[in-house]
This record gives sequence, structure tokens and C-alpha cells, in this order.
Amino acid sequence: MSVSKKEKIKTFCYQCVAGPDLMEVEVENGVATRIESLYGIQDAHPGGGRVCVKAFGLVQKTYNPDRLKGPLKRTNPKKGKDEDPGFVEISWDEALDTIAEKIKSIQSEGLVDKSGYPKIAASFGGGGTPTQYMGTFPALLSALGKVDLGFGAGQGKKAGHLVPFLRSANTDINMTLAMAIIAMVMVHFWGFSILGFPSHIGKFINFKEGPIGFFVGILEIISELAKVVSFTFRLFGNIFAGEVLLMAMGFLLPLIGIIPFLGLELFVGVIQAFIFSMLTLVFASMASVSHGSGDDHH
Ligand code: SF4
Repeated sequence: MSVSKKEKIKTFCYQCVAGPDLMEVEVENGVATRIESLYGIQDAHPGGGRVCVKAFGLVQKTYNPDRLKGPLKRTNPKKGKDEDPGFVEISWDEALDTIAEKIKSIQSEGLVDKSGYPKIAASFGGGGTPTQYMGTFPALLSALGKVDLGFGAGQGKKAGHLVPFLRSANTDINMTLAMAIIAMVMVHFWGFSILGFPSHIGKFINFKEGPIGFFVGILEIISELAKVVSFTFRLFGNIFAGEVLLMAMGFLLPLIGIIPFLGLELFVGVIQAFIFSMLTLVFASMASVSHGSGDDHH
């Protein structure tokens, strides 16, 4: 009958960024069977020689038959709660070739999308896996340019995207353009209804007063288009600049710095709304007055 050989080995746990923490592993016939804290160093250790609860799971973790020891590839492109990702084991060569191929193709199209966000994201481990474990891989990814790197979770520093909870609608130029178009359509609607079709259109297409009249008509058309552009950019520029200011102050002086500027931006918003409506009124009243020396003014 063979006698089992038991020994205690002093080593350390480095499962997470909070380590390394010294511990003792009981090994029986070359198989780790038990983890213990190393109380012998309690005077020298900030945690009194104790390892945390995660370290006690190292035995199960090491010998788990489902432990992953190589790269996996997803074979089912469909994503969802009930979808089986269909992971299959692949060789390191295949994994590295696949990654290199994808990186090269993204690099050739540009590393960021049209909103400026990186198209490549890499996430490393969980529970604050020490970045040392990654070797030079993060440095290689960083050398590519703008890449979203997430190191661990919880204890680690996680890169993230800033997604504002509420965003002013007028910081989107499509919104201000739509408002400008609606305002100018209404201005001309009022012009047509008050002056009648021939009189209002005659301001823009004018053959009666010779080449000068015709040229003035062209200038009128350009000026109407310029009104749409100026409406769009005035509102967009003011509100967008305000949002940038709030964001900058939020970073410089979190929570407190933003408060006075919130009031200021509210005031700017009210003023811009007033300017927009007053200009629409002025343009509408101009559109309801016919041109021409002898015409009646309404
Ligand atoms: S898992 Fe626990 S014992 Fe291991 S390094 Fe992290 S904190 Fe220390």
C-alpha cells in the first residue's frame, strides 16, 4: 500500500489586482487539495496574513474539467438570450490569425466610426485581473491608435463611453434644420395666403421689371435660402456650445462646477427660443408685404 505524500507549499495568490497575497497550499501526491491563509506573516501583512474568499476557490478553479485552456471561437452569429453562441475550441495560431485579419481590415477602413468611437474594443478578464498578465498585448493594441480597452471589472479601471442620459434635441443639427425649414415654409405659406400666389411668387421670379428685376428676384431666392441656413446654425451653434461648456465644467469641477452654467444655459435657451420666434415673425411680416414701388403695403 502506497503512503500518500502530503506537503504544504508556501506560495501566493495573484488572481486579482489586489494581490499578490501570500498563502499556503496543501498538496497531496502532487494535487493541490486545500488553501490556507498564511498566518505566520500576520505581523507583516496588511490583511493579517489572510487571503480573501476567492483564493479558496483556486483548487476547484484549477481542476475544473470545464476550465478553458485555449481560445474559443463563436460560431453562431445570432445573438440573444436563447441563442447558443456555439463556441468551439480553436488553436492559438487560428485565433491570432483571425484577430490580425480583423484588425487589418478595420485599420484599412479607419479605426473610428462616424461618431468618433473606436470600432475595436478589447476587454481583459474580470474581477480586476492584473494587467501584468496581459504582457505586451495592451501596448500593441494601444499602438494601433484609438482602441477601447477595458481592464477587468469592479476593482479594475474600466474604459467606457460617455452616454448622456438626457441630451438637448437642438444639439442635433437635423433638428434645427427641420425647425428652420418648417418656419420658412410657414413664412411663405403666410406670404401666399395674404398676397396671393402671383404677387408673392413675383418677388422671386420677376420678368416684368427687366434684367434688374429678374436679378433682384434671384437675390431674393438666395436670401430665403440663407435664412434657413442662418436659422439652423444659430440655434445649433448656441445650444451645442452650451452642451460642450457643461461637459467641460462637469469634468473640471464634477457636480458643483456645472450648477451655475445650468442656469446660464437655461437662460441662453430661453433667449434663443425668443430670437427664433421673433425672426420668424419678422420674416413672416416681410413676406406678407408685396414688393414694387406702387403696391399696397399690408
Ligand atoms: S483573489 Fe483574494 S487572495 Fe487572491 S490576490 Fe485577489 S484579494 Fe488576494
